Amino acid sequence: MLDVRGLKKVYEGSGRRVEAVRDLTFTVDAGELVCLVGPSGCGKTTLLKCMSGLLTPTSGEVLLGGRPVTGPPPGMAFVFQEYGRSLFPWMRVRDNVELPLKQKKLTTSRRRELVADALESVGLSDAAGAYPWQLSGGMQQRVAIARALAYEPDVLLMDEPFAAVDAQTRADLEDLVRGLWQQRGITILFVTHDIDEAVYLGERVLILSASPTVVQEQLKVDLPTERDQLHTRVAPRFAELRTHVYEQIQAAKRGRPADLEDAKDMKADAPPGAP
Ligand code: ADP
Ligand code: MG
Repeated sequence: MLDVRGLKKVYEGSGRRVEAVRDLTFTVDAGELVCLVGPSGCGKTTLLKCMSGLLTPTSGEVLLGGRPVTGPPPGMAFVFQEYGRSLFPWMRVRDNVELPLKQKKLTTSRRRELVADALESVGLSDAAGAYPWQLSGGMQQRVAIARALAYEPDVLLMDEPFAAVDAQTRADLEDLVRGLWQQRGITILFVTHDIDEAVYLGERVLILSASPTVVQEQLKVDLPTERDQLHTRVAPRFAELRTHVYEQIQAAKRGRPADLEDAKDMKADAPPGAP
């Protein structure tokens, strides 16, 4: 479904040169829920912007369903970290959710149906007539998720969407994402700097190194499909997986794999010349 090949992004301008992403190669299959975890500043947002056609890669390419992405592809939706800036304050919740649907050739009644359905999925039917600024942070982020769902995407990219909400809300929203993924069969790429969140949510976790970024490791999350905040997070396997991811990220900061035992699983090596 999603194919990232040799992606490199260098920002250049005003005499500065930042190699944000060095060489990323990975795929996401149709219907998969993959988490990408990496330290702040490692190029996660840069990667998602390249994948969504908002930024042009310096080299390499992104394919969606076999076709190169050159601009925002139809069938792809995003949820950004900064929900405060992603909703229009002068529009009611239902109008915010409906806005992207206006690009699609749909009847008014079909649009209304999709909006109502999406708001119901995120538990916000009662807030349809409210303005975003009348809602809590967690509710605003639900609106952003509803807007992405109403669009009926095949692929959903989420960039640290819960970084700014409180812990309880965050847990609820995580369960919402897993539930929606199970019900709707959407392909989801979820970016986070939170190791526990990546392991809890993902069917697979891609661990990124610090900038300039490469894929440090790909890890299959062999936890049961049915997960819940109470039991999954205290399961011994959960602890093993999160410890493993933590060690890999620490090693990535130092520029080499955590131990040689794991090196055979590595999809990409540490950056050449790293200490
Ligand atoms: P993350 O989302 O993982 O925190 P980003 O993709 O936002 O990381 O940033 C990766 C690196 O690229 C950082 O060093 C950041 O300062 C740099 N960067 C991001 N956007 C720009 C830009 N528009 N111009 C120059 N450098 C940028
Ligand atoms: Mg970011």
